Amino acid sequence: MSLIKVCEVTKTYKGGDGVVEALKAINLEIAEGEFLALMGPSGSGKSTLLSVLGGLNPPTSGKLIIDDIDVYALAPERLADFRHEYVGFVFQQYQLIPYLTALENVMLPLAITSRPGKEQQEMAHTVLEKVGLGSKALRLPNQLSGGEQNRVAIARAIVNKPAIIFADEPTGSLDSKTATELLELFQVLNRDGLTIIMVTHNKENLAWVSRAVYIRDGILAPAPQES
Ligand code: ADP
Ligand code: ADP
Repeated sequence: MSLIKVCEVTKTYKGGDGVVEALKAINLEIAEGEFLALMGPSGSGKSTLLSVLGGLNPPTSGKLIIDDIDVYALAPERLADFRHEYVGFVFQQYQLIPYLTALENVMLPLAITSRPGKEQQEMAHTVLEKVGLGSKALRLPNQLSGGEQNRVAIARAIVNKPAIIFADEPTGSLDSKTATELLELFQVLNRDGLTIIMVTHNKENLAWVSRAVYIRDGILAPAPQES
């Protein structure tokens, strides 16, 4: 059974220069445990689709079903609960808070839970160890390398044990060695059962994923021909 079902999803933005149809009747099913790459040219609708899939951006029409839940039929409060329970984001614009340690940054998503502080710390420490930063938990972001900061962001995204991780161009600003380390980490997490959906421009990243989906002008398209 599919974990995620996108049914006839359309997204229209209205702006100063008219109406943009960012997504046009998209249908897509994603199974639990997939590591999916979402590819396509700039402006093709990748970020819009990712935000719709993550419960952040209601479609103009159509449905998103995750684990049998009609996500956008949920009341706003339940939708927020749903996001906290099911999804984690590794978005470039979602950077670490500079005056908090790595551990405190990772604890942020736990703050709204009713778990005791001690348990929150232990959970955050466990995921920092998982991403190889157990010994650097008390450092501030500017005392960590770019790749390490990235791993802190991943630790923060997975600390709630979400079923799905959404990553928007996670290797975009990384050198190739750091990018490879990040993809290796994703692969380990994916083998542990996490479903990962990653927007990427980089064809080299395709070696790591279980499937690639292409989008063009808001329509899912077949893989482009090599030229
Ligand atoms: P990609 O991630 O592939 O670059 P986007 O999903 O960001 O594509 O954008 C798809 C189309 O929707 C583009 O034409 C873009 O200009 C438009 N768009 C995206 N977000 C908005 C918004 N908030 N308001 C108006 N238009 C938008
Ligand atoms: P909160 O209830 O703590 O304000 P939300 O329910 O708004 O959080 O968001 C749930 C998750 O989605 C959070 O982990 C947050 O990091 C992420 N998130 C919310 N809005 C955005 C956004 N515009 N871009 C990227 N991630 C977001």
